[in-house]
Amino acid sequence: MRNPRMTKKEMGLAKGALMRVFSRSDLRKEAIATSIIAYSDPKRPRVTKWSMCRSCLNPTPTYLMDVDHVEPKIPVDKSLEEMTWDQLVDNTWCDITNLQPICRPCHKIKSAVENKERRRVKNVKQGKGTKGTGKTNRKRVTTRSNASRAIQSTRKKQY
Ligand SMILES: [Zn+2]
Repeated sequence: MRNPRMTKKEMGLAKGALMRVFSRSDLRKEAIATSIIAYSDPKRPRVTKWSMCRSCLNPTPTYLMDVDHVEPKIPVDKSLEEMTWDQLVDNTWCDITNLQPICRPCHKIKSAVENKERRRVKNVKQGKGTKGTGKTNRKRVTTRSNASRAIQSTRKKQY
C-alpha cells in the first residue's frame, strides 16, 4: 500500500517519527516497568534504577534497556511498502505480551538475525535463493527460533 507521491526516503522518515513517538509512549514505559529489579552495583553508585534483561538475564541500568517486539513490527517476509500505516501502528502498539524488555546487546543480536532472514526471504522471492518453499508462516517460525538460539548462545558466553 504505497502512496506514489511519497518517496521511499520520506516513508523511512515517517516510520522513524512513529518510532520516536513509541519510544516515549505509555505502552513502552509499561513494558519497561515489568523489568525493574531491586539491585545495586557499588561500582556504579549513580545508577539507582536497574532492570533485568529478559533474554540474557543480566542486570542492566534501566535507562539502557530496549523494548523488543517479539513478533517484529514489520514481518520478515514484508517490506514497509507492503504494509499500511495502520498495520505498522497496530504492530508497534501491540499487545504488551509481544513486548519484551531486553538489553541493547541482546536486541542487536535479535535484529541482526531478523535482518538476515529478511534478506534471505527477499532473495527467495526474487528467485535468487535455493532454500525455502514460499510458505511465509514457516519462515516466520524459523526466524523466531533462530533468534532465540542466537540469544541463548550469548547467554552461555556471558556466564
Ligand atoms: Zn540481554
